[in-house]
Amino acid sequence: MGFESVIGLEIHAQLKTKTKIFCNCSAMFGAESNTHTCPVCLGMPGTLPVLNRKVVDFAIKMALATNCNIREVNRFARKNYFYPDLPKGYQISQFELPIAEHGYVLIDINGIKKKIGLTRIHMEEDAGKLIHDQFRPVSCVDFNRTGVPLIEIVSEPDLRSAEEAGIYLRQLRSVVRYLDICDGNLEEGSFRCDANVSIRSEGSKKLGTRTELKNLNSFKHVEKAIEYEIRRQESILAECGTIIQETRLWDHANGRSAPMRGKEDAHDYRYFPDPDLLPLVIDDKWIQSVKETLPELSDDKKARFIDQYALSLYDADVLTADKNIAEFFENCLKIFPKPKLVSNWIMGPLMEILNSEKRTLSDISVSPGDFGRLLKFIDQDIISAGIAKTVFLEMVKTGDAPGDIIDKKGLVQVTDESEIEGLVNEILNNNKKEVEAYKAGKTKLMGFFVGQVMKATSGKANPKIVNQILKKKL
Ligand code: ADP
Ligand code: MG
Ligand code: ZN
Repeated sequence: MGFESVIGLEIHAQLKTKTKIFCNCSAMFGAESNTHTCPVCLGMPGTLPVLNRKVVDFAIKMALATNCNIREVNRFARKNYFYPDLPKGYQISQFELPIAEHGYVLIDINGIKKKIGLTRIHMEEDAGKLIHDQFRPVSCVDFNRTGVPLIEIVSEPDLRSAEEAGIYLRQLRSVVRYLDICDGNLEEGSFRCDANVSIRSEGSKKLGTRTELKNLNSFKHVEKAIEYEIRRQESILAECGTIIQETRLWDHANGRSAPMRGKEDAHDYRYFPDPDLLPLVIDDKWIQSVKETLPELSDDKKARFIDQYALSLYDADVLTADKNIAEFFENCLKIFPKPKLVSNWIMGPLMEILNSEKRTLSDISVSPGDFGRLLKFIDQDIISAGIAKTVFLEMVKTGDAPGDIIDKKGLVQVTDESEIEGLVNEILNNNKKEVEAYKAGKTKLMGFFVGQVMKATSGKANPKIVNQILKKKL
C-alpha cells in the first residue's frame, strides 16, 4: 500500500520597518554587534514595550493579500522559554488572538490551481543571534536582532509533496516582495521556513505523527530536506516502526537530517496575554487605509499581461514572478511597444545573464529604455538579432547605450543588396564543388553558403537579403 505525504509550512518573514517592533532602535541588518539596542529590547526590568504601528500596517497588508480574516481585537502573548539570545526570558508573540486567520493562496501546479489554506498570521519579535564560531570556545550574542519585527505565516497541512512546498514558498516570497514588506531572502535569513512533515496511508483522513525540520536556508534545502524526511518516515513505517514527534536539523552538506530535540507542545510555553500591551483594536477605517496602499499583486498582474499584451500564460507567469522584472517589461514597452519581442528578449538573453551570473536586475546597469532601444534597432533592420546579442552583452559590461556601441564597433547591418550580391558571387565562385552538389539536390548546403557570407561580413549581413540573393543565384 502506498503512502501520502502531508506537509505544512511555518514561515517567518522579517519586516522591513525602520525600527524594531516595541522600541525605536533601528531594525537594520548588518550593523556592528550590539549597537542597535536599548533597555527595552535588552529586556531590562521596568521597561515597557510600545507597539510600532508600521508593523501592524505590514501585517494587515499580508493578511489582505492572502485572503485572511483580520481580527478586530487581537492580542500579544508571552511565549516563555529560556535561551541566551532571549534576554526577557519570553518572546512577545501572539497566541489565541492572532491578527489574521483563515486565509488561502492559490498555487499553480503545472497549470492546475490548488488552494493552500493559511491557518494564521501573527506578529512577533525576533530573538538575538548567537555567534558560536568567531570566539571559540566562547559563544557570543548579538542583540541587534532582538525585537526586529516578524510575521509568522502558518499554513494548513495542505501540501502533498516537496515540489508543492517549494511552489508555495516561492509564491509567498513573491507576495511579500510585491508588498515590499520583506526582502524574502532565505540565505540571509530574512525569510525563514520550518517544514512539518508526516505521512499516512493513501486514502486515510487521519494525520500521522509529524516531525519539524529546521535549518532550511534555501529553496533547495527545503525541497531536499522534505524529500529526505518523507523517505525516512516511509522506511520506518514499512518496518512497522513508530515515528517520534521531534524537531530535526537539516544537514545540507551530508544530505540528511538528525534529531535536535523532542518537539515541544504549545502548553510547554505557558503562553499568557502580555499584561504590558493593550489588546490591539483594528477598525475598518484602518484596514481601508491600508487597502488603498496595496499594489497590484502578481496574480492580477499576470491576468492583465495576458489580456493587455496578448502574452501566453507561460510568458506572463515568468514576467510577473518578480515585480522588478514586470516593471522592467512595462517600461521597455514605453520605448518599444512590441510585447512578444520584449518578452522573448527578457526571458532569453536578459534572464540568461541574470541566472548565469546570479545577479538581479538592480545589479546590472541596463535601463529598460536602452533595452527597448536595442530591440528597436533589430526591428528596424539596423542590426541582426545575432549582433544584438553581442551588443547586449557589451551593454551589460559597460552600461553604454546600444546606439553608441553599434557606432563605436561599426556593427550596423549590411543591407546594401549590390554589396551582398558581390560577396555572394565571390563565394559561389570559390566553392564550385558545393554549388554543383546543391544543384544536384543537396539543398542542405544553403546553410553553408549563408554561413560563408555571414563570416565574410563578421555577422553583419542582413540574413533575409542574403537568403534571397543566394536562392536567386543558385
Ligand atoms: P508549532 O509551533 O508547534 O510547530 P504551529 O501550529 O505553529 O505549531 O505549526 C504547525 C504546522 O505544522 C502547521 O503548518 C501545520 O499545518 C503543520 N502540521 C500540523 N500537523 C501536521 C501533520 N500531522 N503533518 C504535517 N504537518 C502538520
Ligand atoms: Mg513549529
Ligand atoms: Zn531597543
